[in-house]
Amino acid sequence: MFVTIARARRLLVAALLLTATGAAADAARDTATGLSPASIAHARGLRDQALDGSLAWDMVEALTTEVGPRLAGTEAEARARDWAVQRLRAMGFENVRVEPFTIPGWERGEERAVLLAPFPQPLEITGLGGSVGTPGDGLEAELVPFESLAALRATAPGSLDGKIAYVSHAMQRTQDGSSYGFYGTLRRVGASVAAEKGAVAILIRSIGTDSHRFPHTGQMRYAEGVPRIPAAALSNPDADQIERVVRRGQPMRVHLAMSPQASSEAPSGNVIAEIVGRERPEEIVIIGGHLDSWDLGTGAIDDGAGVAITTAAAKLILDSGQRPRRTLRLILWGAEEVGLLGGYEYLRAHREQLPQHIIGTESDFGAERIWQLTAQVSPAGQAVVDIMSELLAPLGVAPGSMDKAGSGPDLVPMVEAGLPSLRLVQNGMDYFDLHHTHDDTLDKIDPVALDQNVAAYVVFAWLAADSTVNFRR
Ligand code: ZN
Ligand code: ZN
Repeated sequence: MFVTIARARRLLVAALLLTATGAAADAARDTATGLSPASIAHARGLRDQALDGSLAWDMVEALTTEVGPRLAGTEAEARARDWAVQRLRAMGFENVRVEPFTIPGWERGEERAVLLAPFPQPLEITGLGGSVGTPGDGLEAELVPFESLAALRATAPGSLDGKIAYVSHAMQRTQDGSSYGFYGTLRRVGASVAAEKGAVAILIRSIGTDSHRFPHTGQMRYAEGVPRIPAAALSNPDADQIERVVRRGQPMRVHLAMSPQASSEAPSGNVIAEIVGRERPEEIVIIGGHLDSWDLGTGAIDDGAGVAITTAAAKLILDSGQRPRRTLRLILWGAEEVGLLGGYEYLRAHREQLPQHIIGTESDFGAERIWQLTAQVSPAGQAVVDIMSELLAPLGVAPGSMDKAGSGPDLVPMVEAGLPSLRLVQNGMDYFDLHHTHDDTLDKIDPVALDQNVAAYVVFAWLAADSTVNFRR
């Protein structure tokens, strides 16, 4: 292309102006956030290093292979803590420790359901976490169908005396998983609603979106003062089958046998590792995932992935030879699945240091790519979030609502107590195909997507920990 001298001069002047404006803008940003151009460049370098391949795959491969399923309160969860402490120490993290606590124990026993009439056949079920068992060899009763939790609530008290309630629902896949909360209510409260009507057990359609014969488990709760009845989920194809039988209009009878074991006290704990801050060691930025899983699969996407992503991000910072100003605290939470018990215990143990907790987030929504960043922080904090957004954009992460944080479940107690948070939102379109089922296994994880997550977490972790701003609104 032919360029005149005059045009070349104009381009040169424009380039110089751009550099000057850029430098001035950088200096202003540095003052407002504490993040020097060198610090931002360091975050960019860590991000690119993560994309070239991180430790995350090896971590989730090892956790799911060497420990396997790790139900809260069991010997397997204790082995997971030992595994994590040993690995984190070997990696060179500081202040690696377990903060122990106890939880009510629960373990699955034998589980069996059979449709006895009108068309005898076995059904695929899984007990819901915390459910009581059936008496003796099981119970046999008429099955009464409801199309929703609302329909069950509306039925007359006494109308289910001696019967088993079956409740369906219409949960659909969404990118952000937002319908899980609504439809999941059935799993959490369905047993007590059915018991209030006189039911002796409840079967629900799995709170999941797959079309395999893998029923979904998950924690349930009994209401005070209501008889405790067994609760189990039917796989989606089995629920479809039941609903076809319902349409044939004949009375249905089911045999249900479940033998879980409960105990009043079982051990759990949060595993903590740190990179101590170089200037403000008392100020804490939290990342992490939960170490416990359900017992059906090996807890690869829920939440071996989150453990691996956040540990790999912290390890990149550890190996970079630069410490951030603030302490980066990696928390591998215990007993998440059974009621965020690790999260509540952490708040109880650290309430005094709440003001020194600067910001936090957790990875607990599978292993798919991150597509959005949401936050809810102070204007000063927003300046840091804007820098994060710039660095995340090349990863395919677009800024979402800056008036809606989210944090991951284990930080909910801390966030409710005032901890600022943000969320690196993963694509959850397929999450509930696998979540809490036998199918939550390592083969479902794409190492490239995992590294994209690590890249996003390392940007967040470095910039939040190296900044000087107060993120509190
Ligand atoms: Zn989880
Ligand atoms: Zn879960």
